[in-house]
Amino acid sequence: SWSSSDSVISTDSTGENTEPESPYRVVLLGASGVGKTAFARIFDGAADSMDSDDCELYEMFEKVIEVDGEPAVVTLLDTWDAEVRQPCYMQTGDAYLLLYSITDRASFLRASELRITLRRSRPAQHTPIILVGNKCDLVRRREVSVAEGRTCAAVFDCKFIETSAAMQHNVWEAFCGIVRQLRLRRDSKEA
Ligand code: GDP
Repeated sequence: SWSSSDSVISTDSTGENTEPESPYRVVLLGASGVGKTAFARIFDGAADSMDSDDCELYEMFEKVIEVDGEPAVVTLLDTWDAEVRQPCYMQTGDAYLLLYSITDRASFLRASELRITLRRSRPAQHTPIILVGNKCDLVRRREVSVAEGRTCAAVFDCKFIETSAAMQHNVWEAFCGIVRQLRLRRDSKEA
């Protein structure tokens, strides 16, 4: 299902993705209601939503964002139906934003489960992941503390950030952070 976007982006006659044009595929994962659609809307801005050709597993958004003065092509996948389709996402992403809502402890536990599943499905790879505690504007409904989020991220060996999609707080920081991690990995591979 990636072939159509590859052919648009790739400049390589072999059909292989070529740097720096090849997009980074960033997948939004998390329980229902945590803010994945809200994240995708913020990312989307003026970009066109692309239809996935063969399945309705996700919505896809592609755009060029500038991170540290260097442009990066990012394809963002907003997933739904994670219970059923989850295995599909676990293979398609270059990086993951693993969302939970700070107002919903069950979504925090779900994020841990997804992290474990991710690790199982790609054991040998250092896949960039950021654990994202969304809805930090809802201070009085908080069920998961900042410390818990941070500790969980440390245990799972990933980065951590709290965001509010409603207030547009830290959302771009999360997108830029994942690009930075992808670049670090790319640079260490090339070295
Ligand atoms: P999804 O199921 O993960 O795609 O979640 P949505 O993006 O549809 O968000 C679920 C609900 O939470 C919607 O009513 C959003 O408006 C709301 N929401 C999302 N992010 C935030 C946030 O940061 N703060 C607040 N207060 N509400 C949010």
